[in-house]
Amino acid sequence: MASCLFCRIIQGEIPATKVYEDDRLIAFNDINPQAPMHVLVVPKAHVATLNDLEAAHDDLVGAMVRAGAGIAHDRGIADSGYRTVFNCTAGAGQTVFHIHLHVIGGRVMAWPPG
Ligand code: 5GP
Ligand code: ZN
Repeated sequence: MASCLFCRIIQGEIPATKVYEDDRLIAFNDINPQAPMHVLVVPKAHVATLNDLEAAHDDLVGAMVRAGAGIAHDRGIADSGYRTVFNCTAGAGQTVFHIHLHVIGGRVMAWPPG
């Protein structure tokens, strides 16, 4: 989607600090980090929200979660703990309508989130 911010990052039209990439996914540092580590794991295919997922996306979403866990492992925070978040629609704080998994860590996480 030409107008989608994350599609533009995937196309290389907007710079981002990539931390992981494979044929289906890209992960890059959040521009406004909420913790020492704040990575967004993003599918290369445009899917606007979790509400748009279909059964055909099951493997893709599994790969997103596993990629996030792998990044946390590589950063040495797998055991100390990290937070994974999908915000779904504006009411939950979604601002970019291309699904993405936030992987946040490197500090103590409070619960419940605001
Ligand atoms: P959401 O609020 O949709 O769950 O998360 C969108 C995230 O994208 C936010 O955490 C925001 O800081 C991040 N973001 C917005 N614009 C950019 C950008 O241009 N580059 C990067 N790397 N992150 C962005
Ligand atoms: Zn997109």
